[in-house]
Amino acid sequence: MSQLKYCQGPRCHTYDTKDRKKGPKDNKRNETRRRSSFYYLDHNACSMQCMYDWFDVYGSRALDHFGRITQPKVLTQDNAWRKNYDWNRDNNHRHYVYNHLTEERREITEQQYNNDNIITEDGRLTI
Ligand SMILES: [Zn+2]
Repeated sequence: MSQLKYCQGPRCHTYDTKDRKKGPKDNKRNETRRRSSFYYLDHNACSMQCMYDWFDVYGSRALDHFGRITQPKVLTQDNAWRKNYDWNRDNNHRHYVYNHLTEERREITEQQYNNDNIITEDGRLTI
């Protein structure tokens, strides 16, 4: 069974919806939404509004914490590799790696295609 968790939107409780209303007539209040799963903010916010609210309050601090981009990131022919395949009706798909700057295409096996290590996270070919 999945655990209930709270929406991380800092203003979630300020949006006036029926499902946020809690308490008896003489002590009504709105509370942060609590659910087993969320869709936004990597499964941490109940709505796009709550996701943006989170970013408005914490976004800059998160960037400072995890490190800002201070130099341009550069795509060259060394890190422009992607995996792809041509679909075939007979299920014998042709797998390949493709350099989308030079347009070079190299055939690979299905086994290589399914190997997450043949192209690094930043697009470098390791085979
Ligand atoms: Zn929310």
